[in-house]
Amino acid sequence: MSRLNKSLFGLVAISASTSATSVGNSSVMPQLPLLVSHSASSSATTISNKTADRTKRVAEAKEIIRAADIVCFDVDSTVIQEEGIDELAEYCGKGQEVANLTREAMGGTMTFQEALRRRLDIIKPSQKQIRDFLRTTPSTLSPGINEFIQHLKNENKKVYFISGGFHSLIDPVAQELGIPLTNLFANKLWFDYKGNYGGFDVNQPTSRSGGKGEAITQIRNFNSSQLQANTQSKIVMIGDGATDLESSPPADYFIGYGGNVVRESVRERAQYFVTDFMQLM
Ligand SMILES: [Mg+2]
Repeated sequence: MSRLNKSLFGLVAISASTSATSVGNSSVMPQLPLLVSHSASSSATTISNKTADRTKRVAEAKEIIRAADIVCFDVDSTVIQEEGIDELAEYCGKGQEVANLTREAMGGTMTFQEALRRRLDIIKPSQKQIRDFLRTTPSTLSPGINEFIQHLKNENKKVYFISGGFHSLIDPVAQELGIPLTNLFANKLWFDYKGNYGGFDVNQPTSRSGGKGEAITQIRNFNSSQLQANTQSKIVMIGDGATDLESSPPADYFIGYGGNVVRESVRERAQYFVTDFMQLM
């Protein structure tokens, strides 16, 4: 039984075999049709489209958000439409090499941190390349994310970003959305005095397997100390990837997001799955 089964609503079994479905962005994952294509004239499509609906328990997910104190977001393919490291690799002319390594890493032959190290060793991004990359290739916010985050803030919920990506790429996104950088967990790149790539901070929880869960625990502990005794914040994690799903527990709930890419293994295991942030408002 999945460890997620202990949450309120049990698990819906959905059979699926593919690993990922791209939804309108330049994902390296194999593409599959997301929705049954239909013509406007066909009245029968209403039913067939329902069978192709990628969402799971949207009404309950919305209720979970309503009751949450803290909402945490993954960033790549969740808050933004791209995968930052893949885009940076492409920009530095190392897209194919990094894609090959990512494929190898997905086979489970290396730890998360080793995969990160090897990808960065291929890209070796300099400070200048990152500056130029940010200027020429700005991230694209996912549809509705700005409205959803403003909605959460208006409801007095705390918002955090937890990313396996890099501060230097994600800080501008957080600033654009009004998220304080103290509410952002991500990896830190190091540079030498000439601005050449010099490694990354292996002490950041987000640089290792299970790190997003560690970040959630830190967030819980920090916020619990601000609450009355015996009061615990309800924390929800939202994301597209396996590491997001695996951060619950310690997050109280995980809501899968498939607005940019649907990773079938995540959708299968997630109890709640949405494809549009507007579904949660
Ligand atoms: Mg992601």
